[in-house]
Amino acid sequence: MSLVVPISYRPVSIVLCITTSRRSLRMASDTVSYCRKKIINYKECGHFWGTKYIHCHGDHPDTTDDNKQCWESRPRKQRNAGTTIETTDKEGGYCSRDCRAEYSGWHCCQCGRAVLASEVHRNAENNLVHLEGDVEHEFCEDCSVGLWV
Ligand SMILES: [Zn+2]
Ligand SMILES: [Zn+2]
Ligand SMILES: [Zn+2]
Ligand SMILES: [Zn+2]
Repeated sequence: MSLVVPISYRPVSIVLCITTSRRSLRMASDTVSYCRKKIINYKECGHFWGTKYIHCHGDHPDTTDDNKQCWESRPRKQRNAGTTIETTDKEGGYCSRDCRAEYSGWHCCQCGRAVLASEVHRNAENNLVHLEGDVEHEFCEDCSVGLWV
Protein backbone atom coordinates (compact mmCIF):
# COMPACT_ATOMS: atom_id res chain seq x y z
CA MET A 1 0.00 0.00 0.00
CA SER A 2 2.83 2.34 0.74
CA LEU A 3 4.26 1.80 -2.78
CA VAL A 4 1.07 2.79 -4.61
CA VAL A 5 1.21 6.43 -3.71
CA PRO A 6 4.73 7.22 -4.98
CA ILE A 7 4.15 5.33 -8.27
CA SER A 8 0.96 7.19 -9.22
CA TYR A 9 2.36 10.49 -7.96
CA ARG A 10 5.77 10.49 -9.61
CA PRO A 11 4.84 10.45 -13.34
CA VAL A 12 2.42 13.34 -12.88
CA SER A 13 5.01 15.50 -11.20
CA ILE A 14 7.60 14.71 -13.89
CA VAL A 15 5.20 15.62 -16.70
CA LEU A 16 4.27 18.89 -14.98
CA CYS A 17 7.90 19.66 -14.46
CA ILE A 18 8.79 19.15 -18.14
CA THR A 19 5.86 21.23 -19.38
CA THR A 20 6.72 24.15 -17.12
CA SER A 21 10.36 24.22 -18.00
CA ARG A 22 9.63 23.99 -21.72
CA ARG A 23 7.18 26.86 -21.49
CA SER A 24 9.57 29.06 -19.54
CA LEU A 25 12.33 28.28 -22.02
CA ARG A 26 10.14 29.35 -24.90
CA MET A 27 9.10 32.54 -23.08
CA ALA A 28 12.71 33.37 -22.35
CA SER A 29 13.70 32.90 -25.98
CA ASP A 30 10.80 35.14 -27.07
CA THR A 31 12.14 38.02 -25.04
CA VAL A 32 15.74 37.71 -26.28
CA SER A 33 15.10 36.86 -29.93
CA TYR A 34 14.22 40.40 -31.03
CA CYS A 35 16.42 43.44 -31.02
CA ARG A 36 15.43 46.33 -28.78
CA LYS A 37 14.83 49.89 -29.89
CA LYS A 38 16.00 52.99 -28.09
CA ILE A 39 14.43 56.34 -28.87
CA ILE A 40 16.82 59.08 -27.82
CA ASN A 41 15.71 62.64 -27.18
CA TYR A 42 17.74 65.70 -26.26
CA LYS A 43 17.89 65.99 -22.51
CA GLU A 44 17.09 69.70 -22.18
CA CYS A 45 14.63 70.49 -24.98
CA GLY A 46 13.14 67.02 -25.37
CA HIS A 47 13.39 67.07 -29.17
CA PHE A 48 14.22 63.92 -31.08
CA TRP A 49 17.91 63.01 -31.39
CA GLY A 50 17.76 59.62 -33.04
CA THR A 51 17.12 55.93 -32.77
CA LYS A 52 19.40 53.11 -31.76
CA TYR A 53 18.88 49.38 -31.97
CA ILE A 54 20.38 47.02 -29.42
CA HIS A 55 21.48 43.67 -30.79
CA CYS A 56 19.56 40.67 -29.43
CA HIS A 57 22.50 38.25 -29.78
CA GLY A 58 20.26 36.40 -32.21
CA ASP A 59 21.26 34.83 -35.49
CA HIS A 60 21.93 37.97 -37.55
CA PRO A 61 24.74 40.54 -37.83
CA ASP A 62 24.88 43.46 -35.40
CA THR A 63 24.24 46.28 -37.85
CA THR A 64 21.65 49.05 -37.66
CA ASP A 65 19.76 47.68 -40.67
CA ASP A 66 19.69 44.09 -39.45
CA ASN A 67 18.77 45.11 -35.92
CA LYS A 68 16.03 47.40 -37.22
CA GLN A 69 14.61 44.62 -39.38
CA CYS A 70 14.71 42.30 -36.38
CA TRP A 71 12.90 44.84 -34.17
CA GLU A 72 10.28 45.34 -36.89
CA SER A 73 9.66 41.60 -37.02
CA ARG A 74 8.64 41.76 -33.34
CA PRO A 75 4.89 41.23 -32.94
CA ARG A 76 3.10 44.57 -32.70
CA LYS A 77 1.88 43.90 -29.17
CA GLN A 78 5.45 43.49 -27.97
CA ARG A 79 6.83 46.63 -29.56
CA ASN A 80 6.23 48.90 -26.60
CA ALA A 81 7.95 46.45 -24.34
CA GLY A 82 10.90 46.37 -26.72
CA THR A 83 11.22 50.16 -26.86
CA THR A 84 12.82 52.42 -24.32
CA ILE A 85 13.13 56.19 -24.31
CA GLU A 86 16.38 57.78 -23.24
CA THR A 87 17.89 61.24 -23.28
CA THR A 88 21.25 62.52 -24.40
CA ASP A 89 23.22 65.57 -23.30
CA LYS A 90 25.04 65.74 -26.63
CA GLU A 91 25.46 69.32 -27.89
CA GLY A 92 24.58 70.52 -24.41
CA GLY A 93 21.27 68.66 -24.51
CA TYR A 94 19.71 70.91 -27.17
CA CYS A 95 18.97 69.97 -30.78
CA SER A 96 20.22 73.28 -32.20
CA ARG A 97 21.67 76.63 -31.30
CA ASP A 98 18.27 78.26 -31.87
CA CYS A 99 16.56 75.75 -29.65
CA ARG A 100 19.07 76.33 -26.90
CA ALA A 101 18.55 80.09 -27.18
CA GLU A 102 14.78 79.69 -27.04
CA TYR A 103 14.86 77.40 -24.01
CA SER A 104 17.66 78.91 -22.00
CA GLY A 105 18.15 82.45 -23.33
CA TRP A 106 21.24 84.03 -24.85
CA HIS A 107 23.70 86.86 -24.51
CA CYS A 108 22.57 89.62 -26.83
CA CYS A 109 25.30 91.16 -29.00
CA GLN A 110 23.29 94.35 -29.55
CA CYS A 111 22.67 95.41 -25.95
CA GLY A 112 25.15 93.14 -24.18
CA ARG A 113 22.44 91.82 -21.91
CA ALA A 114 21.81 88.28 -20.77
CA VAL A 115 18.37 87.48 -22.14
CA LEU A 116 16.32 85.19 -19.91
CA ALA A 117 14.19 82.43 -21.35
CA SER A 118 11.10 84.25 -20.01
CA GLU A 119 11.95 87.30 -22.19
CA VAL A 120 12.31 85.33 -25.41
CA HIS A 121 9.70 85.82 -28.14
CA ARG A 122 9.30 84.84 -31.74
CA ASN A 123 8.46 87.70 -34.08
CA ALA A 124 6.23 87.66 -37.17
CA GLU A 125 9.05 86.10 -39.22
CA ASN A 126 9.40 83.38 -36.58
CA ASN A 127 12.81 84.65 -35.54
CA LEU A 128 13.91 84.63 -31.91
CA VAL A 129 13.90 88.12 -30.44
CA HIS A 130 13.92 89.93 -27.14
CA LEU A 131 12.43 93.39 -26.67
CA GLU A 132 14.56 96.28 -25.59
CA GLY A 133 11.89 98.91 -25.05
CA ASP A 134 9.96 98.82 -28.34
CA VAL A 135 12.90 97.52 -30.34
CA GLU A 136 13.30 93.89 -31.27
CA HIS A 137 16.79 92.52 -30.81
CA GLU A 138 17.04 89.49 -33.01
CA PHE A 139 19.06 86.45 -31.96
CA CYS A 140 21.91 86.24 -34.48
CA GLU A 141 25.24 84.59 -35.26
CA ASP A 142 27.09 87.06 -33.02
CA CYS A 143 24.92 86.43 -29.97
CA SER A 144 26.26 83.78 -27.62
CA VAL A 145 24.52 80.85 -25.96
CA GLY A 146 25.45 78.44 -23.22
CA LEU A 147 27.97 80.67 -21.46
CA TRP A 148 26.21 80.62 -18.12
CA VAL A 149 24.00 78.22 -16.27
ZN1 LIG B 1 17.85 40.86 -33.42
ZN1 LIG C 1 15.33 71.26 -29.40
ZN1 LIG D 1 19.49 92.92 -26.88
ZN1 LIG E 1 23.27 89.15 -31.96
